[in-house]
Amino acid sequence: MSVKSDEEILANSMYEDDPNGNSAPTTTDDQEVEQPMVHKATTQTGTPITSPRWGPQNKGAQELASLYSPGKRAQEIFCVYACLGLMALNLILIVKHMRWERINVAFVSALCGIITADFASGLVHWAADTWGSVDLPLIGKNFLRPFREHHLDPTSITRHDFIETNGDNFMVGIPILGYLAHYFYVKSPYEIQQHFGWISYVFLCSIFVAMTNQIHKWSHTYWGLPKWVQLLQSCHIILPRKHHRIHHVAPHETYFCITTGWLNWPLERIRFWCTLEIIIEHFTGLKPRDDDMKWAKKLT
Ligand SMILES: [Zn+2]
Ligand SMILES: [Zn+2]
Repeated sequence: MSVKSDEEILANSMYEDDPNGNSAPTTTDDQEVEQPMVHKATTQTGTPITSPRWGPQNKGAQELASLYSPGKRAQEIFCVYACLGLMALNLILIVKHMRWERINVAFVSALCGIITADFASGLVHWAADTWGSVDLPLIGKNFLRPFREHHLDPTSITRHDFIETNGDNFMVGIPILGYLAHYFYVKSPYEIQQHFGWISYVFLCSIFVAMTNQIHKWSHTYWGLPKWVQLLQSCHIILPRKHHRIHHVAPHETYFCITTGWLNWPLERIRFWCTLEIIIEHFTGLKPRDDDMKWAKKLT
């Protein structure tokens, strides 16, 4: 069940199977779609200007991409290698302590861990899309910038390498996996067995948190995806491509969960994000997605 119609998605988002985002407008089966890729506006003197609304040619997207700094790159490289090392270490420790009689509890806990990761992805994505500004010190350029860029040029993520795609999420995985590795070393084998459900929960949650942006990147990739990734997407074990398109419809106000996407429909049904926004706006006076809208209107 989808909350947005195919027509609505086509008219308000970029065609993602067009990697450059701004090729000639296409037609649907039998009806012409009004040129959704082009944003018409006028200058102060009233001269009409036409600028690509989405894609790599969009001025805002180009400016945001240029803010990716060498310092940020260094932080990402460190985080990716540290997190990969901790993932491997914890996997070895889990396999070493795994007992068949604990398999059921491990499975249910792991499932809860994946659901938690999906919710966390939605919460962080919603917060970054909806509040704050690229002008904020430290977090603006380093952590909010990629979210703004992603709405203006959704396929730019497919041109990012493994480090740029995963650096920030792997950073979040480091303290959790570090805590887990420490847990294995300070607890006795008996205590580890007693808490194997908790260990499975934390491990799967952190793996899915770390993998979230890679899964997100796959959901924007239309060519060359490995068969096993396509299988996971079609079984909805990870975020499917069609499902994520619902988020990429201006004004980007729903379907924020990007790990498995399992929680998107129930959260939309209970109007979770929109209720949170009403409460925050009531107490702070801040307008949701103010900065996102500002970048979307940037034409020169
Ligand atoms: Zn978004
Ligand atoms: Zn996306």
